[in-house]
Amino acid sequence: MKVYLDNNATTKIDPLVKVKMQPFFEDLYGNPNSLHQFGMDVRPHLNEALGSMYDALHVRDEDDILITSCATESNNAVLKGIFFKYILSNPEKNHIVTTSVEHPSVLDTLSFLSEHGVDVTYVDVDNEGGISLEAMMAAVTDKTILISMMWANNETGMIFPVKEVSEAAKEKGILFHTDAVQAIGKIPVNLTDIDVDYMTFSAHKFHGPKGIGGLYVKKGKSLPNLFHGGEQMGGKRAGTLNVAYIVGMGLAMKQAVGHVEKMNIDVRRLRDKLEDAISKIADTIVVGPREKRTPNTILVSLKGIEGESMLWDLNRAGIAASTGSACASESLHANPVMSAIGEDPELAHTAMRLSLSRFTTEEEIDYVIEMFTKAAERLRAISSTYAYTNKAS
Ligand code: PLP
Repeated sequence: MKVYLDNNATTKIDPLVKVKMQPFFEDLYGNPNSLHQFGMDVRPHLNEALGSMYDALHVRDEDDILITSCATESNNAVLKGIFFKYILSNPEKNHIVTTSVEHPSVLDTLSFLSEHGVDVTYVDVDNEGGISLEAMMAAVTDKTILISMMWANNETGMIFPVKEVSEAAKEKGILFHTDAVQAIGKIPVNLTDIDVDYMTFSAHKFHGPKGIGGLYVKKGKSLPNLFHGGEQMGGKRAGTLNVAYIVGMGLAMKQAVGHVEKMNIDVRRLRDKLEDAISKIADTIVVGPREKRTPNTILVSLKGIEGESMLWDLNRAGIAASTGSACASESLHANPVMSAIGEDPELAHTAMRLSLSRFTTEEEIDYVIEMFTKAAERLRAISSTYAYTNKAS
């Protein structure tokens, strides 16, 4: 059996999305900016896709959704855009507050900007892997121009207090950006209720195609164009529009948002079943209380077992999981979230992430429980023999 439990890294395409995209590789290939019929034929589909995104996120008509190539680009566009628009001309306001557990597309961009005079404060998570309003606002100074805080963490699934922090930021006249990549399709994301200035998303995290994402920009908070060379997207980002993928993202988002309830009932039940079984294994730590996490995620650490060994055992059984962010998986390193929550450095190396989707079945979870338990027993047996051998020599 093959089981994919790495849905926080990427997801499979919803079959309906695949069907919806197909005509745009065949007959509907015109450039929507062209004036001929081929171009004109495509435009209504583009508008329909954008309309689906506005509806799914409850975005007001006067606000903007900028289409990008991925969430990494969206995060770069916000952070570098704020630098060009505000910080360069007014270095007195050069301070950005973020968390120490953001995705590398935020952390590395801020590290780059700090070489250009931007002062960044990284707020650490608490011992549950959470972030409090108080901790975020305590980092604010009279030089703060922006707070950037993810909606839900990609490793633990912990949900951060976006509504509270965005309101507090607004009161102080500070711009607020959230990376909602891990929130959309898992928990309600309603921009009528929650007033953010910028919000990042990516289609491949909610069963859409890879290589397409977006950035919500509130009216009056426009950012400078970082891609010059054409009038596409109203002159805000040049480059021929990838209509097939935009259409795919529109439907994928509509579908994902329509399945949030299923995620919170059916997928949560399967996640909890798996988590209950894993928690029965001795010396196991699951990060963060369930009710504060997205319904599909478990970050677990098994004392004495290397996360990579466990992954390898599971992989041989046809099960895909991860040791954390796929963007960092080429370097075997301590899991940054485990380190941030102050866990034993030994445990930091053993963390592994299991992330379900609405396509995960009960049969798959039963199989994972069996294989996970066997792998843990096998690896524990090896590590105790190893510890004994070491002691004896
Ligand atoms: N932000 C978060 C929270 C993520 O989990 C990811 C992907 O893992 C990204 C950003 C980057 O997404 P993309 O692959 O679309 O650039």
